[in-house]
Formats: sequence, structure tokens, C-alpha cells
Amino acid sequence: MNGNAPTPRVALVTGTSSGIGEAVVRHFCEQGYQVLAVDFNPAGKDVAERAGAAFHQADLTDGDACRAAVQDAIQRFGHLDILVNNAGIQHVSPIETFPEDKWRHIIDLMLTAPFLLTQAAWPSMREGGWGRIINIASVHAQVASPGKAAYVSAKHGMIGLTRTAALEGGEQGITANALCPAYVKTPLVDNQIADQARMHGMEEQEVIEQIMLKNAAVKRLIDPGEVASLVGYLASDAAGAVTGASWNIDLGWTAQ
Ligand code: NAD
Repeated sequence: MNGNAPTPRVALVTGTSSGIGEAVVRHFCEQGYQVLAVDFNPAGKDVAERAGAAFHQADLTDGDACRAAVQDAIQRFGHLDILVNNAGIQHVSPIETFPEDKWRHIIDLMLTAPFLLTQAAWPSMREGGWGRIINIASVHAQVASPGKAAYVSAKHGMIGLTRTAALEGGEQGITANALCPAYVKTPLVDNQIADQARMHGMEEQEVIEQIMLKNAAVKRLIDPGEVASLVGYLASDAAGAVTGASWNIDLGWTAQ
């Protein structure tokens, strides 16, 4: 890097082998950022390399693996500026029969891992006087749906983590924001469409229209690139005054 060229931003994104994470990695690479894509699925390596990102394989339900992923980013690129907590899964079952192991897995991956990654990334952001923590929450961080106790609880918790990080980071140049999308067209939702179609004996299109878009003012699924664009804004210098916020990108779901 010569003395006049600005140092590219360094970003770590989790859950990048498909869907929203993949779109965020592509968006950041197009901005010229240095990106470490982190996923437990080895298929994420090809996805990352095609976009121009480095890849780190990790199961983020393991605390040491979270810390090692952050250390890898810092060793490769010298520092870390942007953390996008995106990795997530879903399990649908009523509370009465919700399996304890599924509950723990979802909380570990979608609430504890974002906390541990934030904690590990914090010193580098503080030392640089600039940081962006972007948490991919969900419309289910604002409202609940039956059968999704662990997911809804993890996502509501993520809003609390986001707000606390915003307050603690304010004096240090670190912002923290959450995004709350409704249904985005990704493998996570494709699986739910297929499951619900089987469960209710409906066509997949009927599941989309009558179940998924029931509460939506805009009657279509969201494209992952639309979420990535908002992440891109929140990661930019222009968003320095925006912190502690929850950004609905929910087709008007929570407007009623
Ligand atoms: P996706 O299934 O396409 O991507 C999830 C990624 O997380 C995958 O790459 C998967 O390999 C990775 N992952 C799963 N378990 C992991 C683990 N233990 N360690 C590391 N990586 C792991 O799903 P998506 O729809 O792109 O979801 C991304 C995020 O967006 C999730 O947090 C999800 O809750 C949230 N979200 C999705 C929607 C939607 O409608 N698709 C809506 C709101 C919020």
C-alpha cells in the first residue's frame, strides 16, 4: 500500500456460503474492501473466492472458533473494521415439543456467536477509532410467529446486543445497527416454503402468497442484494451518525 492510497476497509462476514451473507460479501468486494467470509460449509470457499474474498471455515457455535475467525482476519489484513453477524438457521416446532438441543444450537449460533465475535473484534475497531457492527436480525426481532421460539428469542436478543454495543461504542467511533428483513429469497426460505407446502398440502406459490406475504404491503419476496445494499450503507462513512437502530426491510409487515 503506498502512502497516498487509502487503506481498504477490512470486513468479516459470517454465514456466507449462500443467501444474504453471499450477497454482502459480493457487495463489499465490489467496494474494494478486504473481506474474510466465515462459514462452516466448505462450499463457502468457492463462493468466497469467486467474489474475491478470503475464506475461513468455522462452526460458530464454538466460542474458540469465533475468536479464531477474528484473529485470522486481523492476521491476514492487519486490522478489522466491519463485522457482519449473519449466520443463522431456523427450526420450527411448538414450545411444548421444541427440542432442547435445537434451542441451544440456535441461541449459540445466533446470539452467543455475535456477542463473542463483537467482543473479539472490538479492540481492533477501538484502536482504529472506527468500527461498524451490523447484525442481521429479522422481522422476528420485532414480532413473533408461532413455532419459532428459539429464532424469535435469539433475534429479539440481538436487538439488545446491538443497542448495548451502540452505547459502548459511541465514544470510540464504533457504530452498531441491526437489520430486520422479512422473507428474503434464500435457501433458508426455500426450505421453509417446501416444508410448509408439505405440512399444509398447498402449492409452494400458495404458501408464499397466503402465508409468507399475508402481512406484507409489498407482495413479493426480498432479493438478498436489497439487504446487502442497506448493509453497504450502514458500513460506510456516511452512516457515522446512525447507531443503535433497527432497520426494517420488511415489505411493510410491521407497519400495521
Ligand atoms: P442461508 O441459509 O442462505 O445462509 C445461512 C448461512 O449460515 C449459510 O451459509 C450456512 O452455511 C451458515 N451457517 C449455518 N450454521 C452455521 C454455523 N454453525 N457456523 C457457521 N456458519 C453457519 O440463509 P439466509 O436467509 O441468507 O440467512 C442469513 C441470515 O439472515 C440469518 O441470520 C437469518 O436468520 C437472517 N434472515 C433471513 C431472512 C430470510 O427470509 N431469508 C429473513 C430475516 C432474517
